[in-house]
Amino acid sequence: MSTLRFKMVETAFGKKPHEVELPKGRPSEYYAMYVFNREKMFKYLSPDVYAKLINVIDTGSALDRSIADEVAAGMKKWAVEMGVTHYTHWFAPLTEGTAEKHDSFIEHDGKGGVIEEFSGKLLVQQEPDASSFPNGGIRNTFEARGYSAWDPSSPAFIVDDTLCIPTIFIAYTGESLDYKAPLLKALRAVDKAATDVCHYFNPDVKKVITYLGWEQEYFLVDEGLYAARPDLLLTGRTLMGHDSAKNQQLEDHYFGAIPTRVAAFMKDLEIESLKLGIPVKTRHNEVAPNQFELAPIYEECNLANDHNMLIMSLMRKLARNHGFRVLLHEKPFKGVNGSGKHNNWSLGTDTGIALMAPGKDFKSNLRFVTFVVNTLMAVYRHNGLLKASIASANNAHRLGANEAPPAIISSFLGSQLSAVLKHIEESEPENLQSLGGKKGMNLGIPQIPEILVDNTDRNRTSPFAFTGNRFEFRAVGSEANCASAMIVLNSAMAEQLKEFKSVVDERIAAGEDKFSAILGVIKEYIRMCEPIHFDGNGYSDEWKAEAARRGLDCETSVPLIYDCYLAEDSISMFESTGVMTRKELEARNEVKWETYTKKIQIEARVLGDLALNHIVPVATKYQSTLIDNVYKMHEIFPADKADALTVRNMELIEAIATHTAFIKGHVDAMVEARKVANRIQDEREKAIAYHDTVFPCLDEIREHIDQLELIVDDQMWTLPKYRELLFIR
Ligand code: ADP
Ligand code: MG
Repeated sequence: MSTLRFKMVETAFGKKPHEVELPKGRPSEYYAMYVFNREKMFKYLSPDVYAKLINVIDTGSALDRSIADEVAAGMKKWAVEMGVTHYTHWFAPLTEGTAEKHDSFIEHDGKGGVIEEFSGKLLVQQEPDASSFPNGGIRNTFEARGYSAWDPSSPAFIVDDTLCIPTIFIAYTGESLDYKAPLLKALRAVDKAATDVCHYFNPDVKKVITYLGWEQEYFLVDEGLYAARPDLLLTGRTLMGHDSAKNQQLEDHYFGAIPTRVAAFMKDLEIESLKLGIPVKTRHNEVAPNQFELAPIYEECNLANDHNMLIMSLMRKLARNHGFRVLLHEKPFKGVNGSGKHNNWSLGTDTGIALMAPGKDFKSNLRFVTFVVNTLMAVYRHNGLLKASIASANNAHRLGANEAPPAIISSFLGSQLSAVLKHIEESEPENLQSLGGKKGMNLGIPQIPEILVDNTDRNRTSPFAFTGNRFEFRAVGSEANCASAMIVLNSAMAEQLKEFKSVVDERIAAGEDKFSAILGVIKEYIRMCEPIHFDGNGYSDEWKAEAARRGLDCETSVPLIYDCYLAEDSISMFESTGVMTRKELEARNEVKWETYTKKIQIEARVLGDLALNHIVPVATKYQSTLIDNVYKMHEIFPADKADALTVRNMELIEAIATHTAFIKGHVDAMVEARKVANRIQDEREKAIAYHDTVFPCLDEIREHIDQLELIVDDQMWTLPKYRELLFIR
């Protein structure tokens, strides 16, 4: 390794696990110490206001402005006691991260001093000067402003000296400009639709809760090495870099012992997460070197999502205390696995029933089958849209590569659930009364409960897999806001359940028995959504052909995948569930296309710069030393002998010339393609041009740079290589 690169490693130094300062007490004692949760609400609010606020949280009703002042005062009292001086509305605009603007509590006291103030008005609503957040044209800076409004279902929390208040972010004209507002609407829609369906089985159900358990994958790289890679710094991924001689082929990293410095980071992260009420539970090495995973216990979807957004910023911050940078990009390194964020999703009732889990008797198993089959129908009908919900310039590198789900949404059910559905599809309703129950199913299929709980039949290539008591949406990207996927999945489920109920009700009204009507519709559905069911190898070429034959969405161009949002059946699904309007969808797509373009644009610029002012000069310099050597060899040896001895160097000189000429030529062509694309006004057309004409240049140029990396003297190559980025920890 060159001395320059070596110095960088030396400068970054992390802690050992025993050097991480431990909080006093057990995790259960410091858990949620930074959260204004029910316990603190009870302590800091009057009984009357406490009861009203809990009601708002539990029922999702609007916060009564008359209690806002007292809630704000209680919150402020607690926060000030915790040493807090500032507050912020914390929201998720249509970018990848979260946004916050800090204000201090101080106000003039009228006597020349200041006092700490925090009113209900400030708690409930704010107008962040947010004209530069993406809004797809909905908000013209001088026409309409946006405001953020408190989401009481997600508790306020403290980070450093700041009280953070989770909020939605909307335009004055009512359109949502963030992820949270439509997510809350989708969760409400699925709650209503699922509760109605539950009433066929359990009339006492009042609410259906959506659960989300995310698994966050990430890479850690040494901070010194990171700083020496402008591509990582500016784009989040390496735009060049030859494979390390060793990467993940020995499979020695997955579930292996966690390296000491990484363990210290994880410990620190877990302690801070627990203090913020994030129930982190699992940590392990992932498949690629320097890749890891973190997962909490699942929670209500909106809260789980806020926790994921929060933990991503916590990871970015804490990694630096340990001399690391965390890479949340979906594909930071070519040739080794990328990072995803599996979304484990299920529905449950306020009475404690897990709706995606089999039960003990006929009725509960019919309920289970009802929810599973309606999920399959929703995923089938909106498979293209679901793919659009997770599509991004970054995730495109991961999907379809032989490590992540393919770029086609299908659902894995496993042999047992498949057999159950097949059995239902093929039997007459009268024979199905024995679905589950003490005797099991008479028709040669074992009892449902026992078989599914231990669902070891796992298929890692499936983007949407049933895993025993939940579905696991595996196509979500590691850096994404899970809300994007959860908005689509829950809205689609709400629409589907509503339609299911209306069809069943019609049959009941026509005199059919309730359970027989349900079974009748389920049987039809199983047949209808058969194309979405695929338990085979999602990586195979046969599957691509088969999926196309089945009519599943096989588009791989991200800008075109986004078109699904504006398909008429998508718009009608979002409008009928009250989640988003056509205008919102159109505006949000503008943002998606624009973001796609910008990502590729930045990558192209960074690669062009690096190629021309780093790679080519370094390669040329090395080439000159080779030329020099050839000349000198000819000076000291007779011509014949010198020719023979310099054959290899002559080859290298020529190879370098070929590669650098290719690189220069293609960088010029890439700049030209960008210029042409930049002249396009329409965001969709521009994104397509970037996808079709600029993006392919990146890989072509990279290939030649990576060849040069193998040739050029290691001492001269100042960019840290894969073997250093991936193995130094
Ligand atoms: P694996 O890697 O085998 O998929 P993990 O233990 O890493 O399993 O993660 C599983 C995730 O699924 C955890 O976040 C867990 O809390 C969550 N989970 C478990 N049961 C449910 C459920 N019924 N609904 C939603 N999420 C669930
Ligand atoms: Mg999983």
